[in-house]
Amino acid sequence: MARVTEAAVMAALKALQDPASGRDLVTAGMVQGLTVKDGNVQFVLEVDPAQGAKLEPLRQQAEQAVLALPGVASATAILTAHRSQAAAQPRPATHHENHAHAHGAQQRPPLPGAGKAALPNIRSVIAVASGKGGVGKSTTAANLALALQAQGLKVGLLDADIYGPSQPRLMGLTGRPDSPDGKTIIPHRVNGLPVMSIGFLVAEDTAMIWRGPMVQSALMQMLRDVQWGQLDCLVVDLPPGTGDAQLTMAQQVPLTGAVIVSTPQDIALLDVKKSIAMFRKVDVPILGLVENMSVFVCPNCGHESHVFSHGGAHREADKQGIRFLGEVPLDLKIRETSDAGRPIVLHFPDSPQAEGYRAIARQVWAAAEEQLAGGTRQGPKITMQ
Ligand code: ADP
Repeated sequence: MARVTEAAVMAALKALQDPASGRDLVTAGMVQGLTVKDGNVQFVLEVDPAQGAKLEPLRQQAEQAVLALPGVASATAILTAHRSQAAAQPRPATHHENHAHAHGAQQRPPLPGAGKAALPNIRSVIAVASGKGGVGKSTTAANLALALQAQGLKVGLLDADIYGPSQPRLMGLTGRPDSPDGKTIIPHRVNGLPVMSIGFLVAEDTAMIWRGPMVQSALMQMLRDVQWGQLDCLVVDLPPGTGDAQLTMAQQVPLTGAVIVSTPQDIALLDVKKSIAMFRKVDVPILGLVENMSVFVCPNCGHESHVFSHGGAHREADKQGIRFLGEVPLDLKIRETSDAGRPIVLHFPDSPQAEGYRAIARQVWAAAEEQLAGGTRQGPKITMQ
């Protein structure tokens, strides 16, 4: 079959007209983030927020036009509302916003809950977050989701780590999910647990260049357009850090609460404090802290080495007024299973590591149920300086 090129895709999109400006899609600068890989074509159409959903027919036309090209196996266009730079950039907080109960930047919902995506079939959404990358956030999210499922809950896993989606690798999943009606996506499943990741749609290196507004829009589509079914809990693997994209997700997704993952050596550092402050600023309850890679367990003799001072994370969590959910050791088997796409909770359910994750999941769910029941927030609020 003929190979399709980026130039051919751009030429096809140039033949379509933006009804708002009257210009073609390419000249109007609407086509962004184009990737062509093995006949699979993906791109973003950036549109004026005022046009919003009205341009859905244009998105479909664009997909059809690309799909009609020789050598194209699939075409995916994602519509994003392009905000002005001023709105997309974080701005310095005003005095009022420095108050602990303050809400986020301009154009954001004035009240918690307002403007958030309505997810009628999903009872709770738990975000797994970290101050920085590489601390084991995704590994924790995957095993936490499976451990919650082992508790008898109906669980889904959304990989919102758009800058470096790792759930496909961790869960051992590949290939594009089906979309028979062209509107909704049937998620892949692991042990019956639905999983969705931008990594199924876009190559990892492409995701890296996505800007905040695109990220948001892709996330909202993954939340709303995926056939999650009835869920007790959707676990969301957030991107690391506390940029504008994370802040917006924390505001637009109706989060029941956040679980923060940290390594012991990072726990007292600014990254984690910033992460905690971000959730507090947008009134997302922090369910607690998981200390990952806490102790090193020798794979040969089982001896535990406390590489960093043990108990420090627990103390730090207490100090910051958040619940300590438990610790996961730095363990070769966790790394191997996670890197081989065979999460330990599912593939080695009798291992002590799997029991460790299940114990953490019980704590997480207890904290989430408190929130669902309208429970009180834990601990003092901190004020950002
Ligand atoms: P993040 O999502 O924070 O970037 P990952 O979950 O991708 O981190 O983990 C980074 C690396 O650390 C992976 O190779 C993973 O297998 C490994 N890892 C995560 N948690 C543990 C652990 N408790 N013990 C050993 N290796 C771990």
